[in-house]
Amino acid sequence: MVREREDDSAAREAPWDMNLDRYARQMRYAPLGVEGQQQLLRKRALICGCGALGSVLASTLVRAGVGHVRIVDRDFLELNNLQRQVLFDEEDVTSGTPKAIAAAHKLRKINSQVEVEAIVADVDHRNIRSLVHDVDILLDGTDNFETRFLLNDTSLHFLIPWVYGGCIGAEGQTMTILPGKTPCLRCLMRDTPPAGATPSCDTAGILGPIVNVVASYQACEAIKILSGRHSAINQGLMVFEMWDNRVRQIGLDSLRELRDCPACHRQEFPWLTGERGSQSAVLCGRNAVQLSQVHADPAEPLNFDTLYTQWQAMGRVQRNAYLMRLELESHVLTVFPDGRAIVGGTEDIAEARSLYARYVGH
Ligand SMILES: [Zn+2]
Repeated sequence: MVREREDDSAAREAPWDMNLDRYARQMRYAPLGVEGQQQLLRKRALICGCGALGSVLASTLVRAGVGHVRIVDRDFLELNNLQRQVLFDEEDVTSGTPKAIAAAHKLRKINSQVEVEAIVADVDHRNIRSLVHDVDILLDGTDNFETRFLLNDTSLHFLIPWVYGGCIGAEGQTMTILPGKTPCLRCLMRDTPPAGATPSCDTAGILGPIVNVVASYQACEAIKILSGRHSAINQGLMVFEMWDNRVRQIGLDSLRELRDCPACHRQEFPWLTGERGSQSAVLCGRNAVQLSQVHADPAEPLNFDTLYTQWQAMGRVQRNAYLMRLELESHVLTVFPDGRAIVGGTEDIAEARSLYARYVGH
């Protein structure tokens, strides 16, 4: 069954009276032109994850004039992010600002014509529908395959194109998925790799330049899709090996037909239904665990005032409008108003859960 998704972007308020001077050089590029620019101004993008890849994606698309850019990220900034996460600075680290908020702050200064929306949340099967219902593209700025497979399911189910990107060390990959037309991530990779099977930023490290290359490639694909230039879209898997000076384009032409992909051919979307995917995760390169669904009543926000008073007797406490943090001898506990937490100083989910129970309660 192939569903058709109505493209309602033409009906959106056309910004015909907008001053387009800032896009002059971009519009002069003939394959895009003024008409392509007008398309971009009416389109909406979701950037899922605003770390290294997401920073470049957001900066490029906001500068290019994509009308509405929604950024979702679950994390806050740490000093070792600045080496490759180009939207942020030391003040953002000191203030403990969530990445989505810090990014939006910068992006609104870059282009006030674009609506920038920041959401501090972990993307999962419970909130993905509300995040994608009005967007024209999904962009992968995540660092994990659980979320990528969720994006893949979502793309195929709701017929929204998405652009995969990932990098580690000095290597990176990207692939563009047009649902129902090109191979999807599950055509390429049947399942998420087992935990520990792939190198992480933690074990292999990461160089800043590969991030910029992969995210720039993703952003260019986004510009093609959003401006309606589908014939220019990359049909293969791009692989960049920067240290070894190799760039490869691996053809995927027959993959969708040859592989019996459960998503493409049987419309099975277990990450979207919540059958797959975990609520707690070890965060890449962070020596930290994220805990979701630990708070007893998600509709009732955590009482930061009460917690603040309790925590002051236990260790150093930092608080801002978006989160509160308790520094203990060997752990750092950060909680968000919805009860979600990031426990630093451990990669053991059971230990993180017991720390949460002890310092926040159930
Ligand atoms: Zn597929």
